[in-house]
Amino acid sequence: MTSMLLSPPDLAKYPFTKESRDYIKGLDLKVDELVNPDYGEVLNRAEQRVEEALLGGEVKWRGERYYEIEALSYPIAIMLVASIDDDFLGRRYALAEAKRAYSLFRRERDPERLLEIAGSAFDWRAQDLASDANQSYDYTLHFVDYLRNASRIRSDPWKLVNRLMIKGMVFLKKDEFARLLSEEVQKHVHATITSSPKINLPPLLLQRITRISQILGERREQMRWEELPEKTMVAAYPPCIKRLYDALLAGRHLSHVGRFSLTSFLLNVGVDTEELIRVYTSVSDFDERLTRYQTEHIAGKKGSGTKYLPPNCDTLKTHGLCPGPDEVCRTIRHPLSYYRTKVRLIRRGRAVAERA
Ligand code: SF4
Repeated sequence: MTSMLLSPPDLAKYPFTKESRDYIKGLDLKVDELVNPDYGEVLNRAEQRVEEALLGGEVKWRGERYYEIEALSYPIAIMLVASIDDDFLGRRYALAEAKRAYSLFRRERDPERLLEIAGSAFDWRAQDLASDANQSYDYTLHFVDYLRNASRIRSDPWKLVNRLMIKGMVFLKKDEFARLLSEEVQKHVHATITSSPKINLPPLLLQRITRISQILGERREQMRWEELPEKTMVAAYPPCIKRLYDALLAGRHLSHVGRFSLTSFLLNVGVDTEELIRVYTSVSDFDERLTRYQTEHIAGKKGSGTKYLPPNCDTLKTHGLCPGPDEVCRTIRHPLSYYRTKVRLIRRGRAVAERA
């Protein structure tokens, strides 16, 4: 690996690198010191990072001018998220930091810079091919490092059999290298959050945590359903489907069965194919072409012309996708029966309320 190339603004851009962590450690900042008004801007930015993740799904880069605040606000934002100890928030924050990193990686002009980051932060075995003018690729990456990250992207071009590989090194374009690196960032940020020790925070930080928790409470419900058309009665969805949809929004990996169940359920309760593709591709990293193909296939618009039904409760239980039945679940054997029953109950309840 070449010598250090990361400048102070780079440490703020890429706060997950070892150099950045060492820089922060070198400051020897104590939590109690954060109440000092000198850190007001840093705390504001830390809180804003979490808000950006919740509201927009991506943490923004504010520019090199603010690099000190950017660098310091990252570990504090992690501390705030870890203190709230909410799985949905943790995953959403990790995905939002990964999106920020991805857009910064893509803007890097110096190929060495990405190599340095990949080596420093994640011990990647990679080389750049910039000196070879005939290459249509920019980097090579050891297949183990490749697989560890590409396996999280469910799209044919990422399968190892579809890649050029020579002597265990996979050939990649810059954009692909950046994409894989951002997968690594997401895992790293999430692991940092989940392994953060629980500490007693001063009241000033607790106030910020309360504010974030409020946004989380409002946003979680809003995000759960805002993208779906109103004609389906979302309050009637069964627990298994609600859980799958939450996982999708949090950027979590859905198993093949999980994704099929969610897609087929939503299509069967009246969600439009285009609407569904839009939801999938806007909230996560799904490949649009593949998502369109699969969704249209399940909707019966491709292939056999059969519109698929979601699996029954027994199958969902076998695959660990049933979070535990509620009262309505005990009377049915299929998520769509749950939906029909619950719609009736809700309508009856409304009618009673209107008569009262
Ligand atoms: S019992 Fe059936 S409908 Fe209810 S949560 Fe489990 S799988 Fe879903």
